[in-house]
Amino acid sequence: MKKILIVGGGASGLAAAISAAEAGAAPVLIEAREQTGKKLLKTGSGRCNFTNAYMDPDRYYGGPGFIRSFLGRFSTEDCLGFFGELGLLARERDGYYYPYSNSAASVLSVLNARLRALQVPVLMNSPVTHASVLPDGCFSVKAGEQTLTGDSLIISSGSPAGADAPAGPFSWFPELKVLRVTPYLPALTMLYGSEGCERVWDGVRCRGSVTALGRTETGELQLLAKGISGIPVFQVSRMAVRALQENEPVTAELDFMPDYGSEEVRRLLTEASDPDRGTGTKTLEELLRGWLPRKLIPVILRRAGLFSDREVSGLSGKETGSLREALKHFTYRVTGNGSFREAQTVSGGVDTAELNDDFEARKIPGLYFTGETVDIDGMCGGYNLHFAFGSGIIAGKAAARELNA
Ligand SMILES: Cc1cc2nc3c(=O)[nH]c(=O)nc-3n(C[C@H](O)[C@H](O)[C@H](O)COP(=O)(O)OP(=O)(O)OC[C@H]3O[C@@H](n4cnc5c(N)ncnc54)[C@H](O)[C@@H]3O)c2cc1C
Repeated sequence: MKKILIVGGGASGLAAAISAAEAGAAPVLIEAREQTGKKLLKTGSGRCNFTNAYMDPDRYYGGPGFIRSFLGRFSTEDCLGFFGELGLLARERDGYYYPYSNSAASVLSVLNARLRALQVPVLMNSPVTHASVLPDGCFSVKAGEQTLTGDSLIISSGSPAGADAPAGPFSWFPELKVLRVTPYLPALTMLYGSEGCERVWDGVRCRGSVTALGRTETGELQLLAKGISGIPVFQVSRMAVRALQENEPVTAELDFMPDYGSEEVRRLLTEASDPDRGTGTKTLEELLRGWLPRKLIPVILRRAGLFSDREVSGLSGKETGSLREALKHFTYRVTGNGSFREAQTVSGGVDTAELNDDFEARKIPGLYFTGETVDIDGMCGGYNLHFAFGSGIIAGKAAARELNA
């Protein structure tokens, strides 16, 4: 039986070890930390959103052809089937799948239990500090105090997302210089700015849309002392971070009334300023208290150039237009972004053109990459874990097949 070394006992490494062992190979899982799956436990605020009913290439960035082929081989049903076999009960909410227990620990637990049942050796506290390709095409890995050799090597070492930035991806494997690897940048993270309104709106959570670089996302916005956050901001952050890196100007447009079209807001404002309706005596502050969170009102009024004690009935058409603009098209200049530690994933990693559909490096047979080591990143909604588990399962099975052939 041939040996497969797997570097990294996170989501994709655990899946790779299970699938390789089930396919008849002898994997060894090597984990730097004192336990497997530490990041997995933090996912989905401890609830682990592990896949999604809506699976489409448009939910991912990086090699669209590659991701289309991947999704053809690993669908939502495949992911649910894999975990169902492991004994995980799942539940769905708005297309997002979570463990039925609502606890990420259940996901890690069924993965670890399967590894134990398959008798896969797991080396903990064993950071891989060096790896190389041997003259016979096998692989050597220095893990902690041990040197291990394997017929295949699966790199499932993740990314700096949720942690600090590393010296450079794969600095411990010099031969990977032959592969095209895009440097990592944070993704699914907050965006910073300094418009002068941040301290006023700090702590507000409200429904809103954000549009940046041609993409619009709607959901709960979180307005912070440093900038803007929340799932809609995370969804557009990947492109914004890359643009900032290129020194391109980035402006996010915020819509604080996304469920009301511009004309509807105009109608609401016109009606409110109609003295016959009895609302005309209201101040702007009083009117907006019925529409927005309190701490957002001074920000909107300041942007519109209006005082809070102005009576609604006295607004000119121009002033109504400015208010509508501030509510529906609040431009926010983005000047920075959350760090790797504050990010849920990264953009960057091994270019998909370097890999075949089994996640094997075209230039180094027997070497595989999974999860966040690959330059594919998904949106919020379980897409990154879906990719991590699927890439691990495919790579583990392929490594075993090739070795047994
Ligand atoms: C706070 C947070 C919440 C998230 N929530 C979600 C969510 O709800 N849904 C979703 O789809 N995605 C979520 N993600 C993203 C998801 O966790 C990752 O995409 C996924 O874990 C990637 O799997 P991976 O196997 O590539 O890497 P990881 O799960 O990070 O595993 C990598 C493993 O490799 C080990 N390792 C690294 N270097 C070495 C080395 N040199 N030697 C040995 N071991 C090494 C690490 O210790 C780690 O255990 C979240 C991320 C964060 C940070």
